[in-house]
Amino acid sequence: MEAYLAELNDAQRAPVLQKDGAMIVIAGAGSGKTRVLTYRIAYLMSQGVDPFNILSLTFTNKAAREMKTRISKIVGSSEAKNLWMGTFHSIFAKILRFEADKLGYPSNFTIYDTQDSQSVIRAIIKDMRLDKDVYKYKQVYSRISSYKNSLITVKAYFQNPELKEADAMSKKPRLGEIYQEYVERCFKAGAMDFDDLLLKTNELLNRFPEVLHKYQNRFRYILVDEYQDTNHSQYLIVKALSDKFQNICVVGDDAQSIYAFRGANINNILNFQKDYENVQMYRLEQNYRSTKNIVNAANSIIEKNKTKLEKVVWTANDEGPKIVVNRLLTDGEEGRFVAGSIFENRMQNQMSNGDFAILYRTNAQSRAMEDALRKKEIPYRIYGGLSFYQRKEIKDVLSYLRLLINPKDEEALKRVINYPARGIGQTTMDKLSIAGNQYGKTIFEIIENIDHLDLKINKSTRTKLDNFVNMIKSFTILAENADAFTVADTVTKKTGLVQELKKDGTPEGIARIENIEELLNGIKDFVEGQKELADADGSLAEFLEDVALATDMDKDTGDDDRVALMTIHLAKGLEFPYVYIVGLEEDLFPSGMSMNTRSELEEERRLFYVALTRAEKQAYLTYTQSRYRWGKLVDAEPSRFIEEVDEQYVNYMIPQDDYKYKPLIDTDIFGDEVDKSKLRQTKPKKGTPPPAHKPSESQLRKLRKLKPASPEPEKATNAIKLEAGNVVEHMRFGKGKVLAIDGVGQDKKAEIDFVNGGIKKLLLRFAKLKLI
Ligand code: ATP
Ligand code: MG
Repeated sequence: MEAYLAELNDAQRAPVLQKDGAMIVIAGAGSGKTRVLTYRIAYLMSQGVDPFNILSLTFTNKAAREMKTRISKIVGSSEAKNLWMGTFHSIFAKILRFEADKLGYPSNFTIYDTQDSQSVIRAIIKDMRLDKDVYKYKQVYSRISSYKNSLITVKAYFQNPELKEADAMSKKPRLGEIYQEYVERCFKAGAMDFDDLLLKTNELLNRFPEVLHKYQNRFRYILVDEYQDTNHSQYLIVKALSDKFQNICVVGDDAQSIYAFRGANINNILNFQKDYENVQMYRLEQNYRSTKNIVNAANSIIEKNKTKLEKVVWTANDEGPKIVVNRLLTDGEEGRFVAGSIFENRMQNQMSNGDFAILYRTNAQSRAMEDALRKKEIPYRIYGGLSFYQRKEIKDVLSYLRLLINPKDEEALKRVINYPARGIGQTTMDKLSIAGNQYGKTIFEIIENIDHLDLKINKSTRTKLDNFVNMIKSFTILAENADAFTVADTVTKKTGLVQELKKDGTPEGIARIENIEELLNGIKDFVEGQKELADADGSLAEFLEDVALATDMDKDTGDDDRVALMTIHLAKGLEFPYVYIVGLEEDLFPSGMSMNTRSELEEERRLFYVALTRAEKQAYLTYTQSRYRWGKLVDAEPSRFIEEVDEQYVNYMIPQDDYKYKPLIDTDIFGDEVDKSKLRQTKPKKGTPPPAHKPSESQLRKLRKLKPASPEPEKATNAIKLEAGNVVEHMRFGKGKVLAIDGVGQDKKAEIDFVNGGIKKLLLRFAKLKLI
């Protein structure tokens, strides 16, 4: 047996050694799923499988790099280089570039980020003269995005009257037209948005059988991590590519499915056995990551979900300290507690900053944490939020770079044509835009041909436009031979960007120059790194693709020692010795936006499970008594999740009665009546703790029945017909006025302004409302 196989337990080794066929590994957090994928790839290569024939899809590019590093250590780096590993988006962007012409795109297509997409949509809403308070561009964007992820093209949209009806019901009857215009503008600009990278891949594989066969033959072995969070579009791609050889290995944990709000479909994991022939199902049960206290506490939480696969997770690790729960007065105090505790733990246990993570539900919570860490001089890094590449000065430089690669890129052009100021005003831009629409050309093309067109633009402005286009073209020529760093360096100097900031002279201006320097350093690193790879040459196009698809985790170079701050969503798959989960308050976590249905609440609970299972040695849970929300100081109630943790694994720093979640009156959030005595019974029964040690064989057999526990059917009540303007009464929130009705059928929701509770969105089939 190869030595590395001894680094796996028997259950982990089985899926690694099954070379061919379809297999699924379903297992709880920290049980080695990602490790199985890594070792499986090494094993396939040792069995003579060409790395060119292996495709591995991960949740972040960072995860892919880490796996590659580990595999390099086992099989040697020259072989590992040739593996195809990365996120769905980065792998399929690569394929789309090869095949772009088939879909009518240039191979140098731009990838629009969310900001770009939203800016296009804002412009369309303005051009169509729609009410921007009704057609909120962010909402419109996410609607279009969800259509794309369900593979509803513009054509399909117009063929389905129900979709139109649903949009009309939510007061957006012209959404389809916006969608159509948006798709056309992106196409004209030679741009794909994030969702296109999946949608167009599906289109490519569907419409061109020879392309499908090519990639089916190429990717003989396919591996997917975090399979529970794949959406429909991703599912279809995997299905199509693996259809011929059916050598597919997916790993996942239904209890960690946390992206339903973005279209992830848990059924992909539940139906896997039906999708392929002779599927082998593997289970891993031993957790290697966390202490007994953490594993058992996490088990006691996820137990409360009704929709789940029954699983066993146990650990042979130490018992470890109990989970600390603390209540603080305000978020400022919460920050100070966390910073102080990190400081102490670091000293007492000889840990480094990188051993700590602070996890929260929403990005806005990072500020109080940052303030406290800064005061204690603890270095930290925030993941997510406004990414480095989205900062104004960085996006300005990147826009120049994008434009010289793809002059059709309208978003990039609009951003930099008059920055730094060149005397090209809005009136000129409007004229160019109109001409562009009239001739079916991009603005860049209009300027190139301006002498042959009848445009009312004076001589001096024409000269300025001409100079701009010539400057960009000179950069394009430079980029044909020079590497990304040389081009970017030239661009920042020749365009006058840096001089402009220097003139500014304010501290902000100086900070911006430093950021641009950091960008240039990053490009230099990238070029050096790329040169080591077989199929890359450090070109600007490669760099831009890397940036466009950078997930928030990817900037972590790991070479400096900092506390990590991030949302729980971003923390999936990661691990830290010490984890602080902050802001455990009702309406914040679980989020007030996600309490309309039982399934939304269960997703919040899974999120809590993900958060807690990131911890190796110790976890802390904190909440505050009052918190600023939307500019107002409001009373906060402790999260129900705190009480859900089996108390035998918890060390409360406050009197127990204080953290208990107390429903105001005897109804739960769904408006169902709750028997308070039962509520107490949901607390863990003493004497039957979840298994802390390896359970006996008979216990295991009982627990292993891997079938979905049948969720209780959700009660459908409420038959009254409601419309905006009605006055209603709710058992908990009192009287309220119906503001709007949204959704159809089972999903029908009412937005109600309650005298006691403020504005709430309730799912009608749960809310018991009386019409007054
Ligand atoms: P998650 O569900 O959070 O993604 P996972 O199931 O992917 O977790 P891994 O990240 O693969 O779990 O493993 C968790 C930790 O346990 C890692 O640090 C890994 O190196 C370690 N580990 C896994 N299997 C073993 C083993 N057989 N021996 C020693 N350590 C192991
Ligand atoms: Mg994992």
